[in-house]
Amino acid sequence: MPRPTLAQISLPALRHNYVLAARLASPAKAMAVVKADGYGHGLEPVVAALRGLSPQFAVSSIEEACRVRIIEPDAPVLLLQGVHSASDLNAAAQARFEPVLHHPGQLDDLERWAAAGESLTVWIKINTGMNRLGFHLACIDDVVARLRVCAGVRLRGMIHHFACADERQHPLTDLQFAHFQALIEQYPGFEYSAANSAAHFRPELNRCHWTRPGIMLYGSSPFADESAASLGLRPVMSLISGLISVRDLLPGDTVGYGATWTASAPCRMGMVAVGYADGYPRHAPSGTPVWIAGRRVPLIGRVSMDMLAVDLSACPQARPCDPVELWGEHVPVDEVATLAGTIGYELLTGITARVPRSYLD
Ligand SMILES: *Cc1c(COP(=O)(O)O)cnc(C)c1O
Repeated sequence: MPRPTLAQISLPALRHNYVLAARLASPAKAMAVVKADGYGHGLEPVVAALRGLSPQFAVSSIEEACRVRIIEPDAPVLLLQGVHSASDLNAAAQARFEPVLHHPGQLDDLERWAAAGESLTVWIKINTGMNRLGFHLACIDDVVARLRVCAGVRLRGMIHHFACADERQHPLTDLQFAHFQALIEQYPGFEYSAANSAAHFRPELNRCHWTRPGIMLYGSSPFADESAASLGLRPVMSLISGLISVRDLLPGDTVGYGATWTASAPCRMGMVAVGYADGYPRHAPSGTPVWIAGRRVPLIGRVSMDMLAVDLSACPQARPCDPVELWGEHVPVDEVATLAGTIGYELLTGITARVPRSYLD
């Protein structure tokens, strides 16, 4: 019998979420963001499930793009950070990847490389106020002019990224939007891409050609104060494990490392075969819900590397080998994330290699 811990991935739920993103994006098109191993869901099965739905994909590195290309021979693949070394420009051109240019050094590399006679489609990343990557608006004239005379290089479009689209009323969002709109008017004829997941739920921010949904595809909410279910999203990953032991505690007994939880009355506890070495957050506090035998029970004590404890007083019928859901249909990943002081993105991408993925289609 293998260890019962696994990540169950619902591909119909993934497709449901993509279709919702595409509907919210319309008339813009939605390019699925599948970086970080498809946000921890497995890049290859995610791309295979979205083939024919998503007309383009976006990733962070050429290594990820090569993995997309094996599954999806045709669709363009946007490299959100461009190439990390000039020596990758040939490979990008041959595989028809579309690097973003975000830094003057990348433009210099491209000019030297274009002199060698290859052809490549590129996008420019604009810094409208996120101040992470991208060219300042005042540089765009120069960048566009240099690309125009770069033999074999086609400038397809421009992208920017919202810093605060997940906060409904943030003034930086309006400022960034205004900057990007001005750019669209100044440089007609290119394709423009703005919205991350959060901006899909603010249609007024969606006036361009391409959106870039990530987290929403995987059924987690981009907003701290709105549940994925209330947005019409379905959970894609269920983190499943099993009970491996059940015991009775007396008042005053403590549980686990640091003895941080103490029984105040006689109670029944269970051990679940999942821990922080699987990607379950060590900072999840006592009280974090865990789904067992048809109900929510509270986590108690500190999460260990390979297991965690739950209070089973509310379901005395629970037995070793009973299945457990750490997050999924019954416990939203965002709820666990909030209690652990993080976001769904970190939990989903943090599932470790030892957890087998199992795909439902
Ligand atoms: C990751 C990423 C996205 C997707 O963001 P979500 O919040 O996951 O929807 C979009 N654009 C860029 C540039 C990104 O890095």
